[in-house]
Amino acid sequence: MNESATQPLSRRRFFRWGSSLTASLAALPLFAASNAQAVAATEAAGEDYYEKLGVAKIINAAGTYTTLTAACMPPVVLAAVQKAALHPVRLHDLQVKSGEYVAKRLQCEGAVITSGASGAISLATAACMQAANNIGPMDMPQAIDGRKNQVIVQRAHRYGYDHAMFLCGARVTEVVTLDDFKRACDAGNAVMTNFFNAAEEEDGIAGSAQIGREEWLKVAHEHGIPCHLDAAADMPPISNLWKYTGMGFDLVSFSGGKGMRGPQNAGLLLGKKRLTDLAHQNNNPGDGVGRGMKVAKEQIVGMVAAVDWVLSHTEESMQGDYQKRVDVIVKAVKGVASVTTETVVPKIANHVPHLLIRFDPAVAGISTTEVVAALRAGSPSIELNPNTGHGPNQGIPSDANTLVVGVWMLQPGEDEIVGKRIRAALIKKS
Ligand SMILES: *Cc1c(COP(=O)(O)O)cnc(C)c1O
Repeated sequence: MNESATQPLSRRRFFRWGSSLTASLAALPLFAASNAQAVAATEAAGEDYYEKLGVAKIINAAGTYTTLTAACMPPVVLAAVQKAALHPVRLHDLQVKSGEYVAKRLQCEGAVITSGASGAISLATAACMQAANNIGPMDMPQAIDGRKNQVIVQRAHRYGYDHAMFLCGARVTEVVTLDDFKRACDAGNAVMTNFFNAAEEEDGIAGSAQIGREEWLKVAHEHGIPCHLDAAADMPPISNLWKYTGMGFDLVSFSGGKGMRGPQNAGLLLGKKRLTDLAHQNNNPGDGVGRGMKVAKEQIVGMVAAVDWVLSHTEESMQGDYQKRVDVIVKAVKGVASVTTETVVPKIANHVPHLLIRFDPAVAGISTTEVVAALRAGSPSIELNPNTGHGPNQGIPSDANTLVVGVWMLQPGEDEIVGKRIRAALIKKS
């Protein structure tokens, strides 16, 4: 047993205890107030659940990747979300009014706030299936067989997001040449076409798409087939938010949680009102394909606020201080043996400066794979752009000996940390 616990308090100890008690009692009103303030401040700031759950916070030197939880919302967007979270509203009212507001701001006829670009593709497909067949939202996908159900897509535009269309019972008719395309349109069973915006035609590159946007629209529209464009990761530039609807695409999808920096589980479907109205019919809380793509009031408001945030910028200010961040990292790796640097801006998707750091593994004594592992294992953990160590891909001319740094998702001051850590990794063994 502990000695002090069994013995009565000595006079001396009592005195000490007593005087400190007196001191705290004297300070009580002040203490109580500051304690309450501290509790209130903690409540307002919220508990750190990443810490509580043991989930590592990372430095995102990669980009707006879904697996890295994409973008962080700007403070003004977060504040709007927080305010909206305090009040219930009528969901239908919010869906309709937010669509009208966004359509007006983005210069199109109609809009739906979706659960993301993928959700937007599903709602676009559902809308076009309805428009082409005499069916309702509850007929998809089970009652679609034997009706019009084809989406025409160029072979070079096929991708994993095709599943967002399959969900509605749609099938893909794949085309390569302009003649293929015309034949597919003539077949009379197409409900929609899908155009993957970042997979543009490139002259002379084998396997690249052969049909450009204007020609695509012209042929499809001659056959009365609506055209959807997937521009999920294609803002900036800001003007893309109205460029493609203006060009004649009937429906255009954007991701909300990428360059737009809205909630990660939000997106935009923009376009012809006749079709966005049908998309609304398929959206939650109806029990059609959109039911599992619920967009809560917090995400709807966050997405609208993100649109306002984007439109509060100029094209220049939208590019932020990305080049400055690149310069900080370039400076940090300057003089490291065999290192050369280059800044590239991908043409369509992720159209912001990316830093390429090339080095000779034989000189540095480390490979790109080992640098990636070292940055990941360090504290804080850093994720480089996944094009590091291979490529070229998506407009980023990477290769086996190139590190790719995406700077646009870095928080203030993280450019310095990333620069230091890359330098340390590259000079470790030399
Ligand atoms: C990211 C992306 C999507 C999906 O966007 P979400 O908002 O995550 O659903 C769809 N298409 C393309 C081309 C993308 O880059």
